[in-house]
Amino acid sequence: MAVAGWLHEEDAIMGTAVNVELWDDDELQGRVLIQSVMDEMRRIDELMSTYKPDSELSRVNAGASDSPVTVSTELFKLIGLALNYSVITHGAFDITYASAGQYYDYRTGKKPDSKQLAEALPAISYQHVRLDAAHSSVHFLQKGVRIDLGGIAKGYAVDRCIALLQAAGVNNALVSAGGDTRVIGRHWDHPWVIGIRNPRVHDAIVTKIPLEDAAISTSGDYERYFEKDGIRYHHILNPVTGKSPHEIHSSSIIGGNATDTDALSTSVFVMGVEKGLALINSLPDTEAIIIDNQGRMHYSNGLARVVQ
Ligand code: ADP
Ligand code: MG
Repeated sequence: MAVAGWLHEEDAIMGTAVNVELWDDDELQGRVLIQSVMDEMRRIDELMSTYKPDSELSRVNAGASDSPVTVSTELFKLIGLALNYSVITHGAFDITYASAGQYYDYRTGKKPDSKQLAEALPAISYQHVRLDAAHSSVHFLQKGVRIDLGGIAKGYAVDRCIALLQAAGVNNALVSAGGDTRVIGRHWDHPWVIGIRNPRVHDAIVTKIPLEDAAISTSGDYERYFEKDGIRYHHILNPVTGKSPHEIHSSSIIGGNATDTDALSTSVFVMGVEKGLALINSLPDTEAIIIDNQGRMHYSNGLARVVQ
């Protein structure tokens, strides 16, 4: 006999914690579905990781400065989406940040010296990336260009997994990969509730957001960083300077899908409070909660009406 229930599993994939929680009328089928979600996360990681030298993305980075590299439709489309985000954020979101980003190692406290940085900066520009749809190929128009999809790939993976669950008939579920979460339906008789972390107090939450059929992504300066001479070097870089911005401690974006909220949370972090909120207020069905470097909270218009 089938037993219905809430199922929950966590795994370490894409260098982060992946969580899946769902209701299935048949527990056995639910367990199988959770495994297919974890497999999908691993598949995308294999495709897009810059840590794996034989991933498709690593192949692009190795060859695309010399000549166009043919890629899968999936990678081609995601790079195209990332370039669109560069356009709407006026370059704040830029996957070629990695031209400088490759010289940082947050685990060992490594950063580029001023000569390395000066050489890397001209290679940062999404305009160096040329996509050719007819050949499904990627070409870098300049030497030294590197791309990294770390600012969008986890959100994309979460969306793929939600689509997979929906296709299998699941109506109530949560999928998260690190700071990127998407929910469908409800949790028991309530909306899902996602906590926004206090960026300076470990394991503390500043507020809780109820969500149904929505995505939320948080970018913070506390996830991956080291400190040297009183400066925090963290994993989000301003493409103009090749250095970490310090105006914001965390930016959370709420929207319809996790690919968008992932790219936008990274973007707003780089743009700062004023420009970031202006961007979010210009987008339909998208909201932001920003915690600045004084610990102050800032809300987009749709939330400000509710909170204040
Ligand atoms: P997390 O990876 O913790 O979910 P984010 O969504 O904020 O956090 O993404 C940060 C990642 O985005 C970095 O680790 C890096 O791979 C990438 N990144 C950093 N700066 C930029 C940028 N200016 N534009 C696009 N991607 C970036
Ligand atoms: Mg992001």
